[in-house]
Amino acid sequence: MIENINFNLHSHTARCGHAGGTDEEYVQAAIARGLKVMGFSDHAMLPGIHEPGMRGEPEELEDYLASVKSLKKKYAGQIDVKLGMECEYHPHFASYYRDLLDKKGFDYLIMGEHSYYENGTMHWFYAEGAKATKHYTDLLIEGMESGLFLYVAHPDLMVLYSKKDKTYVSCCKRIINRAKELGIPLEINMGRSRNPYRHSQIPEYPDPIFWDLFRQIGGTCLLGIDAHMPDDYLKSPYGYFEEFIRQYKLQPLLTSPI
Ligand SMILES: [Zn+2]
Ligand SMILES: [Zn+2]
Repeated sequence: MIENINFNLHSHTARCGHAGGTDEEYVQAAIARGLKVMGFSDHAMLPGIHEPGMRGEPEELEDYLASVKSLKKKYAGQIDVKLGMECEYHPHFASYYRDLLDKKGFDYLIMGEHSYYENGTMHWFYAEGAKATKHYTDLLIEGMESGLFLYVAHPDLMVLYSKKDKTYVSCCKRIINRAKELGIPLEINMGRSRNPYRHSQIPEYPDPIFWDLFRQIGGTCLLGIDAHMPDDYLKSPYGYFEEFIRQYKLQPLLTSPI
């Protein structure tokens, strides 16, 4: 099944400060993997936000889009390179994101709700304790409704700071139901499976509770490599995901939604 997937729209670049390799090496790795479409979706550079080690500086935006656009030209005919970004939705950034799509030539944006904006800076959800799960879910749903995003990256990211209780289950259901109603794909994210700091051999996400609910409710899903090194295209544990997809009866998209 996974062998038949011919695209990946979730790739970072060294600009975020926690990924490596050159932009071109990511394209070459995607070609080596046999993909037909690869999209760059680096962590959003955000106006007025400085978060070294998490995202590039706002001034790096122009270099990022120039680099991806030149690779798009250079590799046309071999692979379809797309320009995207992985964004934290917040109303504060909505017009900036809209401009990326309408004026800066971005092909797509994906939503990855790692942190939230407040009083001029970004804050991690886990520091909020018990209310984080609902806060994450509310923002995620508002983001889906904004019409800015092609899909939701690791929708089950909240598993990292949620207790697996009734609140968690009801938030999972809200996300899955709204995504289904809006026709927005949810991503089975491969990033955590390569994270050497995780607490066990089994990655925290994709989370079995979330994806078992998805199996029951339905909707569209897709696989995201979430590459932070070019080699992630070739060396990710595809066998683990093959089994995960089989176990939860998931049918990820085989071809790119854009
Ligand atoms: Zn990252
Ligand atoms: Zn990512």
